[in-house]
Amino acid sequence: MAENQRAEQSAGTAAGAVDQQALDEVVRFTSDLIRIDTSNAGDGACRERPAAEYVAERLADAGIEPVLLERSKGRTNVVARIEGTEPSADALLVHGHLDVVPAVPGDWRVHPFSGEVRDGVVWGRGAVDMKNMDAMMLAAVRRWARGGVRPRRDIVLAFTADEEASAEDGAGFLADHHADLFEGCTEGISESGAFTFHAGGGMRLYPIAAGERGTAWLKLTAHGRAGHGSKINHANAVSRLASAVSRIGAHEWPVRLTPTVRAALRELAALHAVDVDVESPECDVDALLSKLGPSAQLVAPTVRNSANPTMLTAGYKVNVIPGSAVAYVDGRVVPGGEAEFRTTMDALTGPDVTWDYHHGEVALQAPVDSPTFAAMRASVERFDPQGRVVPYCMSGGTDAKQFSRLGIVGYGFSPLKLPEGFDYQALFHGVDECVPTEGLHFGVRVLDDFLRGA
Ligand SMILES: [Zn+2]
Repeated sequence: MAENQRAEQSAGTAAGAVDQQALDEVVRFTSDLIRIDTSNAGDGACRERPAAEYVAERLADAGIEPVLLERSKGRTNVVARIEGTEPSADALLVHGHLDVVPAVPGDWRVHPFSGEVRDGVVWGRGAVDMKNMDAMMLAAVRRWARGGVRPRRDIVLAFTADEEASAEDGAGFLADHHADLFEGCTEGISESGAFTFHAGGGMRLYPIAAGERGTAWLKLTAHGRAGHGSKINHANAVSRLASAVSRIGAHEWPVRLTPTVRAALRELAALHAVDVDVESPECDVDALLSKLGPSAQLVAPTVRNSANPTMLTAGYKVNVIPGSAVAYVDGRVVPGGEAEFRTTMDALTGPDVTWDYHHGEVALQAPVDSPTFAAMRASVERFDPQGRVVPYCMSGGTDAKQFSRLGIVGYGFSPLKLPEGFDYQALFHGVDECVPTEGLHFGVRVLDDFLRGA
């Protein structure tokens, strides 16, 4: 028996711990949820309702009362509360989205909505993002119902619509119109954390997210003088826009370390035996990243702001100079970096180009020295004693941004053990998304262990 299997078994002997039924259910629920096509192309056509009903039935079946909520017809969210043994303790939100990004079946080896279980692997869209976590949440709380287990804190479960687009029909709607359902919640956990990251040389890391960069999608408009393409024109909107876009693309953003990223660098440097003082203002962060091997990927996108030009539109005929030209830029902002982002964009766009937020979302920062972070770390390392938890900051965003409006501090914690060769980040929104059943078993064990004591 492998050492970590032994650890799993000894850790799994607590009263009411995960049983065979929970292990079977987590696989079946993942597969069933994948078969319910909840593709969200952002055009309003997605219907999460069948998946929401599937979830609600399994909660009700375990004596947990679900509430179904919709802002738009068919865009269904499910919320339920499980009372803890310490009513005075702060409640914990556990949320997973029910929608998925679209998939083109012809590109896949296995049909993306088959939910097929083959050779110990569950295939399909949502296998890691994030019907796996939805299934783990269900399997864990149903196990508690069978065993008479109650967690310490109140646990609020939320299964949301519309995370893959604007969240307006999902977490945004819940936060703005149903805040009462989340009363007492101070912290939340959800996707994008506690998955196995193979760092080379057999090192297994489990990055737990304690922060997210903000979203700053910008619309740039260049103004100029319209006219004939054969005439001299020093107020050409296309040239002005092109200059601004090329300045933005070439800009080197300075390093701005947030508390989470600083902690991540400190822990990764120690694990990779790199002797460096991350606290020192002299610390060369890019040089440090170059010594961290694959682990650098966990940190590199979040040590600074970024802005990538992504779309351009101007003109309608080759011999006509248009009066204006438009570009879009995908900006991402580290927590605390908003003011610098704005002044930098003002400088880079210059006097002839105006810019505005086409879509903006806040950056998040969660403490890595909290009891909750310590409890997540302990649960992961209990079930994989050779694995090492590290904090990290997400480069993109999740529903945690919406729930932050309720004062809920969000962590990315959706535990999953993956063998070498399963690149979690590549599976996210990728072709042939899949998850090993063993990984789901590990996930439900860790989630159960953490949630009951959190
Ligand atoms: Zn997701």
